[in-house]
Amino acid sequence: MSTPSSAVAPGAYVEKIRAARVYDVARETPLERAPGLSRRTGNTVLLKREDLQQVFSFKLRGAYNKIINLDPELRARGVIAASAGNHAQGVALAARQLGIRALIVMPKTTPEIKISSVRELGAEIALHGNTYDDAYAHANTLAAEQVLTFIHPYDDPDVIAGQGTVGMEILRDGPGDIAAIFVPVGGGGLIAGVSAWVKAMRPDIRVIGVEPDDAPCMHDALLAGERVVLEQVGIFADGVAVRQAGEEPFRVARECVDEMILVSTDEICAAIKDIFDDTRTIAEPAGALAVAGVKKYVEREACTDQVLVAIDSGANMNFDRLRHVAERAELGERREVLFAATIPERPGSFRRFCDAIGLRGITEFNYRYSDPARRTSSWA
Ligand SMILES: *Cc1c(COP(=O)(O)O)cnc(C)c1O
Repeated sequence: MSTPSSAVAPGAYVEKIRAARVYDVARETPLERAPGLSRRTGNTVLLKREDLQQVFSFKLRGAYNKIINLDPELRARGVIAASAGNHAQGVALAARQLGIRALIVMPKTTPEIKISSVRELGAEIALHGNTYDDAYAHANTLAAEQVLTFIHPYDDPDVIAGQGTVGMEILRDGPGDIAAIFVPVGGGGLIAGVSAWVKAMRPDIRVIGVEPDDAPCMHDALLAGERVVLEQVGIFADGVAVRQAGEEPFRVARECVDEMILVSTDEICAAIKDIFDDTRTIAEPAGALAVAGVKKYVEREACTDQVLVAIDSGANMNFDRLRHVAERAELGERREVLFAATIPERPGSFRRFCDAIGLRGITEFNYRYSDPARRTSSWA
């Protein structure tokens, strides 16, 4: 049950997206001007606010469209998914809406808060293994045993078509002169749907994928001309920490995506702050990726007065990570630097160090003796 339905030609996605049934459960989210980002980049930056969905991400669009398109008898038996994140909540909400059973397999290491948020949506939870791969394998076993339909987070044409409604809404609600749309990329379901729609309707608009530089599965796949498996992926942006791009998303992305941009953790943190400044909402790291990509693109292209759309894809942020994000944001903005210096253990040398720093503010200062041998000699 894990194999995606057969491949769909990118052009044929237009019909699938137009026919996608997502609005029983998904909101048509606003496309809002971000005043601060627009001013600071010298362009018009618009945010597609998918963080405002009921489950705080776009994932319910694809999940619902997949489930509603199942054969009714099969659907009535229920669905299963492997996820500790936004896909789990999307599937759980879609299943509840349709009054069917949802079983979500999560690794045993999943934080309690994520387990309870899925349980509150009425899904059953099975904890299995230590990694996502363990949970995924177990979900496939359970799917076969209990005749449940496996709902893939991205490698499925019906899921892709559901996510594609985000692109449809952007072109419908946005101004006529959009220059580029920036899309966060994990397994690639969202960008496949969005790019298939945009390239069919408005091939002049650039579709640009954004990934963390430590989880570049689509970037590397497009470069290599085939899907690659990353040895390791950074998990800071947990919504997009995927080791291999989906087969069907990769096929569509090859034809419809103009380029991929990679951003650092610090740049993602800075983007979370930008979004906060403009909306007073907190994006999760994956949700802020596209804004980080816009900033990098503007810097590289030195473009002005263009309309640039960034998909703010989600807001499922762990509260306890906010401190880390706030600290790194300053580094990402290059307003603050972190450096180490060795100064002689002599009276007056700290003053000379401060003179060298000049009028710049010091936000934190730590010191220690670096070498006891030298300390003895200089103070002896
Ligand atoms: C799943 C997810 C993505 C990436 O979507 P894919 O279809 O896997 O590429 C981006 N942002 C958030 C918040 C997500 O939950």
